[in-house]
Amino acid sequence: MSNPTTDDRDETIASLRALLRNKENELADLRRDLSRSHGRIEFANPGSALRAASSCNPRNLPCPTCGEDDRLTPEDARIGYQCDECADRAEGRGGYE
Ligand SMILES: [Zn+2]
Repeated sequence: MSNPTTDDRDETIASLRALLRNKENELADLRRDLSRSHGRIEFANPGSALRAASSCNPRNLPCPTCGEDDRLTPEDARIGYQCDECADRAEGRGGYE
């Protein structure tokens, strides 16, 4: 016996996961295109994926993960980045334990 409500929910979750995977692939492509078209990217710090802030790209946006203010530039946000601390945590490096 299967509960139709649970099945519906499982189906919704499965399709959302598929959507997310597609978006992640799209993002990866965008990042590749971006680094190719810019040739050379100015990073905020050595080892950082974040873009260097400038007058036309100010670091004035909150991180989507930890919500800290002034962590990302519009360029970072556009390509779906999070701040360095969150990136390090997500990648399991940095030793912040
Ligand atoms: Zn963060």
